Amino acid sequence: MPAPVAPTSLPPLAAAPVPAAARLAYVRQHFARAYDNVPDLAILIGPPGSGAAVEINDNSVDFFNQTLPCPPAPNWREWREKKLPFFFDNSTEKSILTFKSDRVFITTDIISAAFYLLSGWQEYFSPERDRHGRFPLAASVQKQFGFVTIPVVNYYFDILKSAVEHVTGQALRPRRWGPAQAPFAAFITHDVDSLHGGWGTAARYALRQRQPLALLRLLANKLRNRPAPWHNLAHVQAETARYGANSTFFVLAENQPAPNGTPNADYAPAAPALQNHLRQLAAAGAEIGLHSSYGTAAARLATEAARLPAAPAGNRFHYLAWEPRTTPAAVAAAGFTYDSTLGFAEHFGFRNSYCLPFFPWNFEQNKAHEFLEIPLTLMDTTLNHPYYLQLTPAQIVPAVMPVLAEIKSFGGVFTLLWHNANFDPLNTLNGPMQFHEIMAALLQNKAAFLRGNEIAQALLEK
Ligand SMILES: [Zn+2]
Repeated sequence: MPAPVAPTSLPPLAAAPVPAAARLAYVRQHFARAYDNVPDLAILIGPPGSGAAVEINDNSVDFFNQTLPCPPAPNWREWREKKLPFFFDNSTEKSILTFKSDRVFITTDIISAAFYLLSGWQEYFSPERDRHGRFPLAASVQKQFGFVTIPVVNYYFDILKSAVEHVTGQALRPRRWGPAQAPFAAFITHDVDSLHGGWGTAARYALRQRQPLALLRLLANKLRNRPAPWHNLAHVQAETARYGANSTFFVLAENQPAPNGTPNADYAPAAPALQNHLRQLAAAGAEIGLHSSYGTAAARLATEAARLPAAPAGNRFHYLAWEPRTTPAAVAAAGFTYDSTLGFAEHFGFRNSYCLPFFPWNFEQNKAHEFLEIPLTLMDTTLNHPYYLQLTPAQIVPAVMPVLAEIKSFGGVFTLLWHNANFDPLNTLNGPMQFHEIMAALLQNKAAFLRGNEIAQALLEK
């Protein structure tokens, strides 16, 4: 008799229980990188009775020995006049911090809660996936409890910061970025899905806006075999440079469609003309990362990376396709310094509830991976798409500003994805006008515009 067919093609779970000490070490590792001058945390933070000056109970019971995607519903408590969800909170204490002379007791288990959110526990154990094999926002605790635009883990760290400052008498300052010591970083990225397309899209824009001249110009360009509207990387780089920023281009290195027919590049990655073009962009300050193809087998990641003109430091998956059970190990094995895939396509904000780069958790080996995830904050497509949001142009900046303010207050990174395909001036929904409005807001708020390799380097140095 043939073996029964598995109901889904999800990879099997391969995780071991995560002990409290491993969770605490993971949280400390990230706390130490979120602030300047963090003292030795190994002796500072621990469970009651451990001799640590900052005491926190482990309230997770045996949640991390099981395979449930979601813990019990969080309690809502106030911290700095903001209502926040606290998982693993069974304390009846009203205040979050209890001060003793030279000690602090944190009444709610922010270590377990921070580990839960930052590690991506929910998506590893959840069987839910969308049509592109992605963990959907609809299945997340962020959606269920309404906190996708709040970097909750950074707020937990703010609590921890208060406690550490109390016991050490030394103020901790959020991370600063770049030579100007800017209050946050902005990472401006463009996924290059197409270089030869855009004729049809541009024609539809022109028709809809009753611009016959634009339509004629398009037709003339097409007949004269001029470059397609989306053959525009130098233009994109120039538009980004108006803010003193360097673009990071994530370039596909596979032009065969995925096994399920989903398209990859519409350009030949190895063509000498393209390779030269990418070298020129890099010489003018751009970073060229890999846009791993849709349906890439783990073993092929390094092969694709080798097709770029120079070894890429960073990667982002086409369609943001990320299988939590296998993708992190594949990124690590291919030797990338960083990845920047983890955001929800359905909504801007914080998929791991954290606004700084972090080391994804390795569930198979019970330790952090060595590559950094620079979380994706906002993708152009998210703003206006039948499956995602349908914001009008006037709604975009007001909707995004609170997220920018959160990132700025915690010294985080605002990662923007604006496809080269959305630089057509006739696109008035999520086109160049909206790109420039967001860039202007980032500039006004004194962002340090940095490439992914620069951001990753800053984190790795400390
Ligand atoms: Zn793509």
